[in-house]
Amino acid sequence: MNLLENIKSALEFYSALGFERLPIKVQPLKKKPGQFEKISGIGSEEPPVKANHLSPVADGCSSKEALLKSICEEIGDCKRCKLSGKRTNIVFGEGNPRARLMFIGEAPGREEDLQGRPFVGDAGTVLTRLINKMGFRREDVYIANIVKCRPPLNRDPEPDEIGICMEFIERQIEVISPEVIMSLGRISTMALTGDMKLRITAVRGKFISYKGIPTMPTFHPAYLIRNPKDKWLTWNDAQKVMEKLGSSLIE
Ligand code: URA
Repeated sequence: MNLLENIKSALEFYSALGFERLPIKVQPLKKKPGQFEKISGIGSEEPPVKANHLSPVADGCSSKEALLKSICEEIGDCKRCKLSGKRTNIVFGEGNPRARLMFIGEAPGREEDLQGRPFVGDAGTVLTRLINKMGFRREDVYIANIVKCRPPLNRDPEPDEIGICMEFIERQIEVISPEVIMSLGRISTMALTGDMKLRITAVRGKFISYKGIPTMPTFHPAYLIRNPKDKWLTWNDAQKVMEKLGSSLIE
């Protein structure tokens, strides 16, 4: 590809992701030739970049799977809080038990409740695009929520519900032991930090520590659907995460 094709491809790539303007913070390109061939496919369903792929490794994986399964079994047909009455399915979480990167949302929505899987509705489409754009497939990372059952009418989970469910995400994080967490939105970040007064606009974009794990608070994908102009801020946050993982496309 020549330079003009590269630029065209990069612009199409941002446009396909819903960017209306380029991210302001432009970093110098230091990558080898061929980089743009790799990113030109981003936005499609298939992963464009294999660099972050985790090859299946037997050791450690099965025990992590077993530990996650035992947490799931312990949750069982949970009746610990009032959300249990109206839920269709418990949404435990899914992905690679050995994921380097974990995404944590707040609670399942309607589609997630019906399917029993995290982030499979409209917000899930945005999150999946972000994951792909970062060079991962959904099955490379681990996706879970603070609260495992859908709050009625998608209201925010209440403090008692978070308090009861919190131990499970804590244990999932402990088992997976990711290198980096992306905390999606105010509720998730509040729950992970214990700071009930936190404003996501004030804390996003800067790493915090969750029990020693670098954690990047960012906007919730549902917020980005309502405020697409802020997508580039989330992309900036994601780039910091990729840098932390040592696999930034732009570094
Ligand atoms: N919003 C969340 O926080 N989690 C989901 O799984 C879906 C939507």
